[in-house]
Amino acid sequence: MVTATRPEAKVKLGPTKLLINNQWVESVSGKRFETINPATGEVICDVAEADAADVDRAVEAARNAFNHSDWRKMSARKRGELLYKLADLIEENKEELARLETLDNGKPLTESLNMDLPFVIETYRYYAGWADKIQGKTIPISGSYFCYTRHEPVGVVGQIIPWNFPLLMQAWKLAPALAAGNTVVMKTAEQTPLSAFRVGELIVEAGFPPGVVNLLSGYGPTAGAAIARHPNIDKVAFTGSTEVGHLIMEAAAKSNLKRVTLELGGKSPNIVFADANFDAAIEGSHQALFFNQGQCCNAGSRLFVEEKCYDEFVERSVERAKQRKVGDPFASDTKQGPQVDREQFDKVMGYIESGMRQGAKMLCGGHRFGDRGYFIEPTVFADVRDDMDIAREEIFGPVMSIIKFKDIDELVERANDTIYGLAAGVWTQDISKAHAIAHSLRAGTVWVNCYHAFDIAAPFGGFKQSGMGRELGEYGLQQYTEVKTVTVKL
Ligand code: NAP
Ligand code: MG
Repeated sequence: MVTATRPEAKVKLGPTKLLINNQWVESVSGKRFETINPATGEVICDVAEADAADVDRAVEAARNAFNHSDWRKMSARKRGELLYKLADLIEENKEELARLETLDNGKPLTESLNMDLPFVIETYRYYAGWADKIQGKTIPISGSYFCYTRHEPVGVVGQIIPWNFPLLMQAWKLAPALAAGNTVVMKTAEQTPLSAFRVGELIVEAGFPPGVVNLLSGYGPTAGAAIARHPNIDKVAFTGSTEVGHLIMEAAAKSNLKRVTLELGGKSPNIVFADANFDAAIEGSHQALFFNQGQCCNAGSRLFVEEKCYDEFVERSVERAKQRKVGDPFASDTKQGPQVDREQFDKVMGYIESGMRQGAKMLCGGHRFGDRGYFIEPTVFADVRDDMDIAREEIFGPVMSIIKFKDIDELVERANDTIYGLAAGVWTQDISKAHAIAHSLRAGTVWVNCYHAFDIAAPFGGFKQSGMGRELGEYGLQQYTEVKTVTVKL
């Protein structure tokens, strides 16, 4: 156990080695890599760097746990109890975990503590409740037979998670996998390994048998790719960029046809009609884009506003963005911390330049904030055209692009004109129009007069190149089971 030394970040760091078979071990190569505090650019500590050899070790442990350990013989209710216990332990250590999350990721502590952690705890509890309610059917087939289905675990599951909600993405993946009785090899994002490892300690403390959960820190092209192509992994679940999603699916196809679920990028239309509740639409659209430093796959990043109210909407959105408090993520009044790392910072700044070059009108922001760390001023572009890069590509940063539309018919076509289909927002007081638009948008989630309205029970996932499969709710659980048909001659 190490402690960060800087006064602004009195955060207790957890383990920095790999969790394999309930043991904390160095990587086979002995290599380690640094994780950075994005608010300062300084090194927090280094962690073990897993590669293919460590994936092999972890898969062996997970396979052994799946085939031979108590885990497979354990009753479903007992599996649920372990998940409840884990949720309780996370709740007991909530403050510490939230601080660790903020240190490694840069998100405001008020959000880590009041948004991420409660959702994490709820996720483990929700799926704990499902563990003993995973039921098959009896099926009346022709002839003198008794036919029934069992929903069995898929087996050894590889899970690759991103850095934007480290604890939450870990929970969304681990909880349904474990509720259904799988064993797991998880790779955390290179930028944010620390909070997942602290949860690893709590997993061991809760009493999960060795090999059920194995946690690796390491890089995508080495450790991540080794998971995607591993012949002894039965399913891979991935959240991250669409580009890497393609690689994961290709590796799965070329190795063993492992099951694949993907939660990928987005360029979600958020549509404001002139008949909307204006105050709610301004605030909701602000949060839809700027929440979490703009680092949300479902960010409302194509903001379509009806011509009749366009100018007023733009003016008020700029005012609102200017009020957004950027700064030290540990300060209680901070609403926006730094981008997660130098690479993301450069990428977002590149999009700001491209917006200006291609003729969008920048009305606020546009610069780095401060002189250390990876902060970017909340930025608003108006007069954005559909063909500009900032309207087509995922920026993943605090950059709002406001686009004008005239009538509903052209709007739906334009909103759907993207390779993505993750989410969408609609703001109107006309209930028929709201439902009609919701049905015609090609997106996995449509929020009406709200945005980011997530709930653990409501499924989330993408149409088109935003992914395949769903997470959360009962739909998310189904992705972690195989259906077996048993037929008995009577
Ligand atoms: P990314 O490369 O897709 O990273 C997501 C995860 O995949 C990380 O754990 C990453 O490992 C791993 N990975 C990378 N290459 C891999 C490979 N060849 N095989 C297997 N796993 C691999 O995303 P990023 O580079 O962090 O961010 C790039 C862009 O992706 C962002 O700007 C944003 O547009 C999008 N993104 C989307 C989400 C989302 O929630 N859907 C989340 C994060 C980023 P490393 O630890 O080495 O990165
Ligand atoms: Mg990457």
